[in-house]
Amino acid sequence: MEKKIFSEEIKNVILEKLKGERKVSFLVGAGLSAESGIPTFRGKHGFWTSGSKNYTPQEIGTKRMFDINSNEVWRWFLYRISICNEAKPNLGHIELSKIEQLLPFRFHLISQNVDGLHFEPESLINTVYLIHGDLRFMRCSEECTKQLFKIPQELVDKKRTRETPITFEETELLKCPNCNSETRPHVLWFDELYNEYHYHLDTVLRIAKKTGLLFVIGTSGATNLPQRVVRNTLKRQGIVIDINPNENLFSKKLEKLKNGYIVKATSSDALTELRKIIAQSL
Ligand SMILES: [Zn+2]
Repeated sequence: MEKKIFSEEIKNVILEKLKGERKVSFLVGAGLSAESGIPTFRGKHGFWTSGSKNYTPQEIGTKRMFDINSNEVWRWFLYRISICNEAKPNLGHIELSKIEQLLPFRFHLISQNVDGLHFEPESLINTVYLIHGDLRFMRCSEECTKQLFKIPQELVDKKRTRETPITFEETELLKCPNCNSETRPHVLWFDELYNEYHYHLDTVLRIAKKTGLLFVIGTSGATNLPQRVVRNTLKRQGIVIDINPNENLFSKKLEKLKNGYIVKATSSDALTELRKIIAQSL
């Protein structure tokens, strides 16, 4: 017999909640994109050498560093962008889009991933909130406008190693089309706060309150807004199910709660089975 990822108990909880009308939301993180070969950049892939100094992503991905050396920060982001550009969505991304189609109006995806894989090659998903930004875009560092600009394709397509410098022509391409100041990557940096305009702060907290069933997938729970999303759902008697091959801050918290469940599995395996459970319930 085929091994089931969701136990009978968890499956019944899911089916019971699907009968209601509250939202079914998904909070996803780096684990979802790991099968597409995107490194998390928190481990050894993250270190970045500038001159004779080594920086961690937590140091290089900051407003502070950008103000000191924007060229170096862009070099690191263009390197990441080139890796994301090579990657393709995996089964997990595709199953999520199928689940969205099964649950119109109830489905919401809250994604911490900046890699753009929810949208390649075509937009796979309609109701998605990118709470940490989107590496496909840049915006004015002087905030002359809140508008986002697509990063010029010739910058995206260029193959880069960690050593590839930014040329003068490329620096020109990275200027704000509106005021000619420098642009910055459209991502939330480690020393910045969430906001509604760029990162949907209030919207996702509101969605979390209306959520009856929240799946937390491939995220370690290390950042502030994901934790608040989970808390908001739990406060209103929503069910939270953590899906992750590894123990993490969310699973440790949820195992102590009666509204919390833990499923140890990869995102693609779990989402495939979940999609079938949802399809059968309709
Ligand atoms: Zn500008």
